[in-house]
Formats: sequence, structure tokens, C-alpha cells
Amino acid sequence: MKIPYGRQEVTSDDVSAVVEVLNSDYLTQGPVIPRFERAVAGHTGAKQGVAANSATSALHIACLALDLGPNDLLWTVPNTFVASANCARYCGADVDFVDIDPLTWNLSTVALERKLEFAAQRGRLPKIVVPVHFSGQPTEQERIWELASRYGFSVIEDASHSIGASRSMEAVGSCRWSDVTIFSFHPVKIVTSAEGGMALTNDDSLAKRMSEFRTHGITRDPSRFTNLPGDGADPEAADIPWYYEQQELGYNYRMSDLHAALGLSQLSRLTAYVERRNRLAARYDERLAGLPVQLPTIGQENVSAFHLYVVRLADDASGALRNRVFRDLRRRGIGVNVHYIPVHLHPYYRTLGFRPGDFPESEAYGRTAITLPLFPALTEEQQDLVIQAVTEAL
Ligand SMILES: *Cc1c(COP(=O)(O)O)cnc(C)c1O
Repeated sequence: MKIPYGRQEVTSDDVSAVVEVLNSDYLTQGPVIPRFERAVAGHTGAKQGVAANSATSALHIACLALDLGPNDLLWTVPNTFVASANCARYCGADVDFVDIDPLTWNLSTVALERKLEFAAQRGRLPKIVVPVHFSGQPTEQERIWELASRYGFSVIEDASHSIGASRSMEAVGSCRWSDVTIFSFHPVKIVTSAEGGMALTNDDSLAKRMSEFRTHGITRDPSRFTNLPGDGADPEAADIPWYYEQQELGYNYRMSDLHAALGLSQLSRLTAYVERRNRLAARYDERLAGLPVQLPTIGQENVSAFHLYVVRLADDASGALRNRVFRDLRRRGIGVNVHYIPVHLHPYYRTLGFRPGDFPESEAYGRTAITLPLFPALTEEQQDLVIQAVTEAL
């Protein structure tokens, strides 16, 4: 592929930061992870960050800490990566979906409200709703948060695409309108730790529970011990510093210090990356404006992180047009992609009873969308090649 759809940038500073950890006393469970957690939390304004070895793991520990279990229900959107839904299945909970808005391609709060009214009548409300900031654009969080307090569900923002974005001047990740926000540091995302993710929260007890689920369900906090008499003030507990207890069934979802060092180093370029992505997106907007495609619609209150630049072609009800244009662009060396196949149409989710036709907006989106190359190191010359190829392929 001459021009990929996304690509990380690793600088010599990033390399030095990782090498420094390699030469230090700790490769994992050392001092860089808490530094990375504080830096990300500091950037967003959230009180606490819990780093994990992926966003998928972070979603899982967030669901566990919010007590999601068998017979519970989690709702998310079909237009996302499968991990947003799979986290519920790991907990033995059921998944259902809320259709998307045809303009923003994010969760439709109108559809959410209608589905909640219906679910309340039937007596099966979700325990958790996971809105996804698709392509880097924040969801209508304040509206979702209002519905959360009315209907009593928890909210996990899947912000895997949107570190560096903001809504009404509020940084994504501040958790002003949610219980937990998740970031991904996979190489195609905005900043990378190679593999890695983080859960942000303003709730200390949620943060504590997430960090325990990240490390086997083990606690070293004397006030949480149940096998020893008394609490942290007990001299017996204070005298045996080797002591710990496994309170619940957790996992090894830790991030290593090597990964945290890369993430921390990359974080210093977050603002520059998001600005560059926005400049390139605006340039696409301008130069594709005359073509028969639907361009991204960014809400007035929103600054998108522009993880992805997606355009939609005309809906021919089969996806044949998009597939033809896709193949044509790939033949020309343009690394286009499709984000996303609606989650409910994957074979695994069909075995749970979902069918084509269940979420029409997401399905129409899924057969008309095409992701164009967008990453900070994309040059304007390369972008012009993409624009020319799209123009010819249509
Ligand atoms: C990338 C992504 C994830 C998973 O991230 P990992 O860090 O690879 O586990 C989850 N949700 C969405 C929306 C994503 O794009």
C-alpha cells in the first residue's frame, strides 16, 4: 500500500524513553505506569486513571467494577469495534444495541430515549450504556447522562478514538457526564503505547476496584482485608508487609513500564497530533465538497480528535458501489478501510439472535462508508493523491 489509512509516528524521544526503562530496575510494575496514569488523568481533568494492557481489558475491568454480571444488560451501538460489546459477554451479561444518528454516525440519543421508554415498560433496562465517540467525535454525553440518572444505568464512554477531543470545552475523559471513560493506545489510534488502554474515573472506589480486577483481584490495602482481625490500624496487619488477599476473581491486565514510557512520551505530542488531524480533515472537507459523497458532520459543541476520516457514498441497498470504489482505490495503492461492519451482523452476534434489519441506520452506514487515509505524517501531496484517486474512482 502506497498510502496506509493510518500510521503511528515514533520519534527518537520515544525510543530513548523506552530504552531508559529497559536499562532501569523495573520492566513492569515500576514507577512509569503511575506517571502515565497521572499524566493522562491530568490532561483530561479526571481524578484517576487506571492503565491496562489494552482498551479491551480496560472495558472489561470497568464492567466488572460496575458489577455487570449474568442477567444484566449492556447497550452499545452497532457502529463500533466488537470490543465495545464483547466486554459485556466476558461478564456473562447480555448485549443489545441502540441505532446511530445518520449524520454524526454516533449513538442517536433520540433512539436511546425511545428504547429506554420501551425497556422501562417491559421491565428490562440496561445496567450499563456504552456510547462510542466514533471517529473521534464526542457523543451527546450530557443528554445521555441525564437519561442515566432518570433510568438508573451507568455510563462507560468508549473514547478509544477521541483522546484529545472536547465537547463544550470539556476534555473527553473528564468523566463529567459518565462513570468511566476508556482510551485505547493501539498504534492506529491518536497516541500509542504499542498495546495499551486506560480507564478514567472521578470515583475513587471504582478506580480501586478496577485496579484490583487488573491485578488478579488482589488487594494490599489493610482496610480491605477480611481474613485478618481488625482493619488498617491493627498492628498485626502492619507487622506483616508481605501480606495480601485475593478478594475477587481478577485478571493479569497490567500494562508494562515499557509500554507506559512510550505512551507517556507520545502524550506530549497529543495536541499537535489532534491539530494536524483537524487541518487535514478540513482540507479533505474542502476538496471533496463537490463530489457525490456525504462528508463528516461535526457538532458545533464538538472538537473531534479525527481518528478516522470517513465519507459515505450513495446507498445502493447492496454495498456494491462502495465495494467497487474500495477495490478501485486499493488498486491505486490507497489504503482505504471500512469502519465498521455493524457488530450485530457478525456471526457470533447472529447466534445471539440479531438479524439484518434490526438497526437500519447502522446497516445503511455500514454498506456506504469508506475510511480515507488520515494520520499526522500524511503529507499534503499524499493527500492530494488520495483526493484525485477518489475523484476518479467515483
Ligand atoms: C481500538 C478500539 C477498541 C479496542 O482497543 P484495544 O486497545 O485494541 O483493545 C475498543 N473500542 C473501539 C471503539 C476501538 O476503536
